[in-house]
Amino acid sequence: MLNLRSSAFTWKNGQVYLAKCAEALPIRWSRQLPPGCVPSTITVKLDPSGRWSVCLRFNDNRDFQLKPLKKRVGVDVGISSLIATSDGTKVNNPKYFNKLYKKLRLSQKSLSRKTKGSNNYQKARLKVARIHAKIKDSRLDYTHKLTTQLIRENQTIVVEDLAVKNMVKNHKLARAISDANWGELVRQLEYKAEWYGRELIKIDRYFPSSKRCSECGYVVDKLPLDIREWDCPECAAHHDRDLNASINILAAGLAVSVCGATVRPEGSKSRRAGAMKQKAPSSDVKESRAVTQVQRREDVKQRTPRGRVVTSAAWRHLGFAPPDEQLSLKL
Ligand SMILES: [Zn+2]
Repeated sequence: MLNLRSSAFTWKNGQVYLAKCAEALPIRWSRQLPPGCVPSTITVKLDPSGRWSVCLRFNDNRDFQLKPLKKRVGVDVGISSLIATSDGTKVNNPKYFNKLYKKLRLSQKSLSRKTKGSNNYQKARLKVARIHAKIKDSRLDYTHKLTTQLIRENQTIVVEDLAVKNMVKNHKLARAISDANWGELVRQLEYKAEWYGRELIKIDRYFPSSKRCSECGYVVDKLPLDIREWDCPECAAHHDRDLNASINILAAGLAVSVCGATVRPEGSKSRRAGAMKQKAPSSDVKESRAVTQVQRREDVKQRTPRGRVVTSAAWRHLGFAPPDEQLSLKL
């Protein structure tokens, strides 16, 4: 990886000239730079799959705010369906990794049989890296499309504040969770909400969104993961597990806005300062191709809205004792 400050490259007629190079970099642009923008930093990278990429960092002062809408939605992220929204939509998990997993395993096996450092080893290594890159690109592309659609169609989006890192520790679910790209999904929703003038509310992860009946508020004791549909013992309402959860998440999010949420100073740790990357199309990757990635400059730490948590008042609004009280009751 090569980081270049403005002294180490020249920006001329929309072309990048590296210092001491007579010719401009043969860049295939992923998108056009907005007029008048001059990159401040350029990063040239070679990834393990042999792709070159150039990231340009620049200040973009354009206003992307969308027209305000009335629609609000609760989003439950899951494995069997990637997301379920409170308006009754379920989006399937594409499971790219599963599709390519067989291929990856074969190529990894073949790699392990090669003598380290040999030409064949290098070839096999590249093959493995390319499959990894393919999975990563497809995932990211899918997540981008999904989050953009959610942001476009809704004014307020409520999600659970998930601890993805802790969940991945559950080995049975680790691959499925990594594959679903939850952390990235929420990260994209965060900054896109900021760009497009939408509101993202993150509710407490301990809120019993799955176990609560969205009709009458009854909370069941247990709801194992394999139960996809259930009937409320109190009001006999029939629930789809994920859709019911998303309705509860929306309700909790709205309670947060009604009761005035506290703003939790969290999340800054996990947030990378890298801002957004736009990937070039993932198909037909050639070895020496220069992929352009355009980075938008923004001070993420300052501008990203902080997650909100369900306050005690909001918990009571929904008919629960707040978590700290629940805890003291147990003691
Ligand atoms: Zn019920």
